[in-house]
Amino acid sequence: MEFKTDALVIKATDYKENDKLLNLFTPSRGKLTAGIRGVRKPKAKLAFAAQPFCFAEYVLAEKGGRYTVTAAYLYDGFFALRTDIVRYYAACAVLEICDALLVEEGESRALFIAAAEALKGLSLTDGDAAELLVGFCVAALHEAGYMLDLDGCGVCGGEVKGNVYFDFDAGYFTCTACASGVRASGATYETLRKCAGLAYDEEKTAGGLKRALRLIRTYLAEKTEEEYPCFGEFIRLYE
Ligand SMILES: [Zn+2]
Repeated sequence: MEFKTDALVIKATDYKENDKLLNLFTPSRGKLTAGIRGVRKPKAKLAFAAQPFCFAEYVLAEKGGRYTVTAAYLYDGFFALRTDIVRYYAACAVLEICDALLVEEGESRALFIAAAEALKGLSLTDGDAAELLVGFCVAALHEAGYMLDLDGCGVCGGEVKGNVYFDFDAGYFTCTACASGVRASGATYETLRKCAGLAYDEEKTAGGLKRALRLIRTYLAEKTEEEYPCFGEFIRLYE
């Protein structure tokens, strides 16, 4: 039987002589693998649908638990990403995070929307790449059940300033008095609040973006036991 679904291509791997295997992210079925035939031949009509970042409506045929792409209608290929290496790595990090957080056959609408919005922001706007990536991470962690608590000290509820700490197990910051976790910076906390769309103090965000990126990558790695190489490369490249 055939069905239609919106999907984002997370990964495309060569398969047989002219085919590819796609790791697709779909809003209603989570992650699924689908074959797409003949796309490595010159002038293949569906070549566009077999590229990472392709955001399209896919028609999939299902037979014996295997999926094959029979048609695709492009929404956006986010081609501008390929002209800016820093934004490209941020976008790769978005896909890498989706791949790690997604489950097969699980509904993930909110994460799907967050990923599509992040790729749009990186590809079609001048928005700061690190802020877009951090904002996506905060939303993705929330959806995956690894929520970062950015609402004051996680222990006493007081203000987070001065010598602050971050508790990786609990996913919250703590104040100087509570001091649970490892040393962090107030700038990281304010920057995370900024990227999450919460009220923040601009003066206190100075120098926080790179720290926020590092903290989130470490947090993701601890929670999911994955390494996030593209995220790491983005941090290295981002000035
Ligand atoms: Zn406290």
